Amino acid sequence: MLKNLRIGFVTNLIIFIALGYASTHSVNPLRFWGCESLFIKVVLTFLAISLFLQLIAIYVISRIPEDANCSDPDCGKSIRTFYFIYRGGVMCPRCKRWYHGSCWERFNKIRYFDALKSHLGCKICEGAEPSKRRLFGEESIFGGDS
Ligand SMILES: [Zn+2]
Ligand SMILES: [Zn+2]
Repeated sequence: MLKNLRIGFVTNLIIFIALGYASTHSVNPLRFWGCESLFIKVVLTFLAISLFLQLIAIYVISRIPEDANCSDPDCGKSIRTFYFIYRGGVMCPRCKRWYHGSCWERFNKIRYFDALKSHLGCKICEGAEPSKRRLFGEESIFGGDS
């Protein structure tokens, strides 16, 4: 996953620089948009935006350990490999287990942001050792199966 992203980034970068250089004879990316053709400007802008997005994706994914697997028992797949398919990867704020974005919501029945805000953990660690907030009579977020 990360390798593909890096290859995509480098490929994009080469096209970006080659195109910019061909139309302006300058290697300074800031001058690329000074070229005559509107079409080239649009393509350069598009490439620049995707380069930026790719950089963010590489940064985000490289922060996830390579061997992190989803803790949802119905999933269990690699976080990195399925990062974009299962809407990202999140780490339980309490037990540091990893989940895919969509697996987190399905398994824990709470939005990740809300869990962070309320200092709640995932179903696994809340089940083993409920956080104080739950002990003090918050309504159960995991349904009435306990
Ligand atoms: Zn998952
Ligand atoms: Zn947890």
